[in-house]
Amino acid sequence: MPDTYTQIATNSIGRKVIQQLGLPAPVILERHEPGDAVVEGTVLLGAAPGGRLAGPIAQVLERVGAEAATELRDDLRTAAADAGLDAAVWNPQAPADQRFKALVFDATGITDSTQLQELHAFFQPTFRRVKSCGRVIVLGTPPEHADSPREATAQRALEGFTRSAGKEARAGTTAQLVYVAPGAEDQLFTTLAFLLSPRSAYVSGQVVRIGEAKDPSTADLVAPLAGKVALVTGAARGIGAAIAQTLHREGATIVGLDVPQLGADLQAGMDSIGGTAIEADITAESAPKDIVAALKKAHKGGIDIVVHNAGITRDKTIGGMKPEGWGLVVDVNLSAEERLNDAFLATDTIKDGGRIVCVSSISGIAGNNGQTNYATSKAGVIGMVQSLAPVLADRDITINAVAPGFIETQMTAKVPLPIRQAGRLMNSMSQGGLPVDVAETIAWYASPGSSGLTGNVVRVCGQSLLGA
Ligand code: NAD
Repeated sequence: MPDTYTQIATNSIGRKVIQQLGLPAPVILERHEPGDAVVEGTVLLGAAPGGRLAGPIAQVLERVGAEAATELRDDLRTAAADAGLDAAVWNPQAPADQRFKALVFDATGITDSTQLQELHAFFQPTFRRVKSCGRVIVLGTPPEHADSPREATAQRALEGFTRSAGKEARAGTTAQLVYVAPGAEDQLFTTLAFLLSPRSAYVSGQVVRIGEAKDPSTADLVAPLAGKVALVTGAARGIGAAIAQTLHREGATIVGLDVPQLGADLQAGMDSIGGTAIEADITAESAPKDIVAALKKAHKGGIDIVVHNAGITRDKTIGGMKPEGWGLVVDVNLSAEERLNDAFLATDTIKDGGRIVCVSSISGIAGNNGQTNYATSKAGVIGMVQSLAPVLADRDITINAVAPGFIETQMTAKVPLPIRQAGRLMNSMSQGGLPVDVAETIAWYASPGSSGLTGNVVRVCGQSLLGA
């Protein structure tokens, strides 16, 4: 449910007043509904000459059934034809009312800063033609995989372009940069399907890194998680409840965990999706052993997906913070997750090829007044993801994080109104996100087709002005 300001801003009188006052003017973001197409409207595919991704992108567009267009260029027409993609030819002189739902640009051919002009050549005539809730996606080579310092420099420059494009885009349009390692050209499917679709409504200005994986990325578009079992901590309410529902919608069987005080809410939520409830405090000394036992009892063969969502805040500036206020936050948000991971890995409770997804926060990236404890714990979550990713690769287990910004939940409802309103408006979408936005991002990481994604931290914050 959009907040009151967004509701006012999206009726015709309210919008006029807001525009006259020069205030941020949010739109109601398009969000995924079961049965929806991945992308409704034309996707224009462009590329800098010499790139390696036009073919793989065309293959994804063909598989998701996208309406597509390319410029009249031999290499692009051939890439589309080879992928079996029926792409129209786009003429830059077309009338201004010819619009696109998405612009996708392969920038891997850019090997020198002088060639960055290709970005201007493609986006200048097309950017204003993007429809509301549109998508801008640039694909590049991770600078660390470039063949020369010049190429690494030019590829790194793409970040500045996409982050600015996200800020310039209007009306719910997002912009992302996807770095694709050489050899990972077959790993685009789940990532492009997510970023093109309304599932990524509140994700903008992000950099995603895709690496090589054993099998090509593919996934059922309706029930990608069929046959998978997912543990979601903190599942009784808020973001955790939305994660449980969303992973269930995607086909997974859910085990929800929360503290005994919220046992009734948890049980009701699990009953509605045919899941199992585990009442436990993740910080209890016996929690790792007890939770492993409960999981093995419910699912003898182990589980496929772990979502570490349980989290708390105890805000106070450092000078006035009691040791318990520090200790509890770091224990719930970070140390308990580490202990659970150790136990799940040591007992093979999480299967090889599994997925671990952690919920960090933009506080852990940008810091926040009154949150030294919380930001420490959430930055630690990012450290955990980045340090475990290479270790877990031996077992084909991926680990990634989402870092939510301002999401409308009971946690943020407690924030004083002026700060709450600032949190809502100070981002490129000019509104707070919904729990489902975090959940959709987690479902993308959790997909069996996302083996090439590990060690990523993606903010779900509408490109918040707080932090990098
Ligand atoms: P919430 O308070 O509504 O839900 C958190 C859940 O975690 C609750 O059900 C709670 O009982 C459970 N939990 C807390 N301690 C636990 C423990 N020791 N053992 C088991 N369960 C425990 O909060 P939310 O807004 O839904 O937040 C979910 C996650 O998202 C948290 O990790 C939070 O830090 C993170 N986050 C939220 C926002 C936001 O804007 N709401 C922003 C950034 C990050």
